[in-house]
Amino acid sequence: MKLPSAIKTYCPYCNAHKEHTVRLARKGKERSMSRGRRKYEAVKAGYGGSPRTPKKEVYKVGKRTIAVLTCKTCGKKHQKVYGARTKRKVEIE
Ligand SMILES: [Zn+2]
Repeated sequence: MKLPSAIKTYCPYCNAHKEHTVRLARKGKERSMSRGRRKYEAVKAGYGGSPRTPKKEVYKVGKRTIAVLTCKTCGKKHQKVYGARTKRKVEIE
């Protein structure tokens, strides 16, 4: 599935159809000093192993692809799922 780099779609901030730029959302970098990370490191320290059960390998056929839409009028960003659970990769032309 191919997405154009600019589309006209609904902007919830402008409450109207406006021109948007499209880019794919990427996972952000995990903060090493976040509350959950600090707690996990504290539990893992010392004797005893990991407090979490090891993850099973899950083979997902289709993945959700989230597009970040940036409104050209107000500059606000919102997200939209394109090609939900599709086998094909979503690309931007
Ligand atoms: Zn807008």
